[in-house]
Formats: sequence, structure tokens, C-alpha cells
Amino acid sequence: MIHDISIPMSAATREWPGDQPFECGWTCRIDRGDSINLAAITTSFHVGTHADAPLHVHDGWPASEALTVSAFIGPVRVITAPQESLPHSLSVEALRRLLGPTIPARVLLRTGRTIADGAFPDDWPVLTSEAADWLVDEGLVLWGVDAPSVDHRHSKTLDVHHALLGRGAFVLENLDLRYVAAGDYELVAPPLLVTGADAAPVRAVLRSLHQH
Ligand SMILES: [Zn+2]
Repeated sequence: MIHDISIPMSAATREWPGDQPFECGWTCRIDRGDSINLAAITTSFHVGTHADAPLHVHDGWPASEALTVSAFIGPVRVITAPQESLPHSLSVEALRRLLGPTIPARVLLRTGRTIADGAFPDDWPVLTSEAADWLVDEGLVLWGVDAPSVDHRHSKTLDVHHALLGRGAFVLENLDLRYVAAGDYELVAPPLLVTGADAAPVRAVLRSLHQH
């Protein structure tokens, strides 16, 4: 079974407050006498499901063309953040409890704090930077979240972005994990091959593993 866990890049999708929303205009329209309909968009790459490029948080770090496809395809574990009062950050110990003895290469965190519900959440659970470092040490290549960011909403230092993107791991933001259970899946979520940008749009799907 295939679960589409993408949030659309759409005019109806809530952009980060102050960011450029998605706008779609028409260069040609059949109803204006053109032979085709032809659209053009103006948008932040952070509207809807996307992968941040390292460049997003650090001048000189790789741009969107360097998002490594293999990190975004393969086995993945979906986990649910404990419901605690915010601000809340997951420690190494909390992650050990959630993940068990074997640390997967790809993990998606369901916080329940998502623009998929229509409103922009006030805040959401994130990793401590120690936990992010530890995950990369253990072989993590991809950390995905249903929230709008892997850091807290009002973070200015963006510690989790730096800890992951600075050491070769990648991130997915704005996933729709409302309808998938915690557990193991196969992820297929390659970023669009955009060059020179701070992020790239992603169509993300989970495939259920066959039961034996
Ligand atoms: Zn982003």
C-alpha cells in the first residue's frame, strides 16, 4: 500500500509567516485565444513538503542540486513524539526509547503540529542538538518532520539544521503524517532537481512493507 505523505505546493498551503507564498499565474490561456494553457509560479521552496539544502542555513554550504537522491529513498521508521508541553526537545535517551537498539538510516517524526491541519502551529517538538549529533554518529542520513521546521519556530541559531546539514545528513519538512501509523516503511521522496536554491520541493510517499 502506498501512502502519500506530501503537503501540496499550493496557494491554499500556509507559508512560513513572512515568507513568499505560492502564487500561480498564467502566461497563456486557451480562453484568451492562446493554443495552450501555460502557468508560471512564484513561490518560496518551503511551501509544502520540501528538503532544505545546506545552503539554507550557512553561506558556502551546498545548494539544492547537492541533495543526494539516495538519502531520500529507502527504509524509514516513523515515530511519534511524546505529548509534552512545549517547548520540548527530544534527548538522546528519549530517542533511544522511541527507536530501540537499532538506529535506522531514515527517521520521520510525527509531532501532530503541522500545517496539514490548515493553521500554522505555534511550536513543535524538535531534537536537542546532542540528539541530532548522536543520530548522525549512528548513521542517520535523513530526518523528516511533519512540522514546518526541524528547529523550534522561534529559533535563531537553527542548531538542529546545522547539526544535520553540516555533517552530511538531510532533512524533510512539512510532511503529512496524520494518516500513517508509527512503524517501518519504504520511503520514496527524491527532491526536484533544482539548482542554486536553498531548498527543493518533494513528493513524498511511504510504501508499506510486505507482511510475511
Ligand atoms: Zn525548510
